[in-house]
Amino acid sequence: MIPYGKHFLDEDDIQEVIDILRNGTLTQGIKVDEFEERFSSYVGSKYAIAVSSGTAALHLACLAKDISKGDNVITSANTFVSDANCAVFVGANPLFTDIDVESLNMSPQDLASKCQQNKKMRAIIPAHFAGVPCDMVPIKEVADKYKSIIIEDACHALGAKYPCGAKVGSCKYSDITVFSLHPVKSIATGEGGMITTNDDETYRRLIMLRSHGIFHQKLFKNPNFHMDKLFVNEDRAYDEKGVTPWYFEMQELGFNYRLSEIQCGLGISQLRKLDRFIEYRKKLVGKYDQAFLGIDNLSITQIKYRSTSAFHLYVVRINFRNIGISRAEFMRKLGVLGVGSQVHYIPIPSHPFYEKRGFSLDNYINTKTYYEEALSLPLYYELSETEQDLVVKSVLSILS
Ligand SMILES: *Cc1c(COP(=O)(O)O)cnc(C)c1O
Repeated sequence: MIPYGKHFLDEDDIQEVIDILRNGTLTQGIKVDEFEERFSSYVGSKYAIAVSSGTAALHLACLAKDISKGDNVITSANTFVSDANCAVFVGANPLFTDIDVESLNMSPQDLASKCQQNKKMRAIIPAHFAGVPCDMVPIKEVADKYKSIIIEDACHALGAKYPCGAKVGSCKYSDITVFSLHPVKSIATGEGGMITTNDDETYRRLIMLRSHGIFHQKLFKNPNFHMDKLFVNEDRAYDEKGVTPWYFEMQELGFNYRLSEIQCGLGISQLRKLDRFIEYRKKLVGKYDQAFLGIDNLSITQIKYRSTSAFHLYVVRINFRNIGISRAEFMRKLGVLGVGSQVHYIPIPSHPFYEKRGFSLDNYINTKTYYEEALSLPLYYELSETEQDLVVKSVLSILS
């Protein structure tokens, strides 16, 4: 069975992990620092903070920016549940925008009107769906107007570029950007996530929140970071020779959201291959586009954004009503032919947890019609041309 997405590992990745296992340090060693440094220099941010998952990254982003009870947080209706859950984690109210039909991303127009209707919009979480960067210029205008911060969900978009040429993750239009390193994403560490920011105070909070809220001098190894006052209780921290060897302070309530040396080593090795991964995904997307252009009852999505995408997903829209078979049947038939497929996403407002909170998909019309037609086809580095041909042939045969 050809899956819709899959990680890629080679001998270098395996060797990197074996070396770490032989060397003895399993967590909180030099690989974390190296991975963070390489990641931030790849995306062009001042700081990168490795964490245990993309969801942990979103949670910490909300905590580091003091999003809390009574605050409104808005994300797209068409993204993964974590983008709304992170608001709930900190006691804030999640809200949703409809999508733009061309990009399938957060609609800046709808964002503007939701911000006008809802007071105290504290955070906007645009997700770069399928690898296509959101329209950040108008989103930032809205954020500035309503004094909201922006947390970009770039879980699909490691390696993507904004139209201005800057990389997603550089935080050119945002306060914080988050990534996932789950095996189905651009690079894999098993489970894992990364946060990027250019702001010193945000960095300080994130480093502490990742590790129980503890302040310890040795946690701040990034040479870009300087602090005047380190400890809350300076008098307890020092003797006449300097900081006493055992002293640390828990300054706020944090978590253990760290990433291990094993995972960071794998991340370093994977990051080296990222550009190659994206180049090949782009080639596959080009071939799909050619094969599906002008086919009845099928439309290619996000086609205007082929120059900025990281090509995380290949989503087509199929008019299942017209062809007379349901999406479930279509997916089952593909499965019989050996082709896996998926739907991205079940819109967040239509999950029972959010319906119980009063949301309804009927209020997000573009998302609703998109959802009825969406299908993600296999797209990953190891997908061979022959396998891709089988995907195309299978889709076309079921359509006719
Ligand atoms: C994968 C993903 C997440 C969550 O990342 P995890 O590492 O699985 O916690 C969040 N948002 C989007 C858009 C994702 O694709």
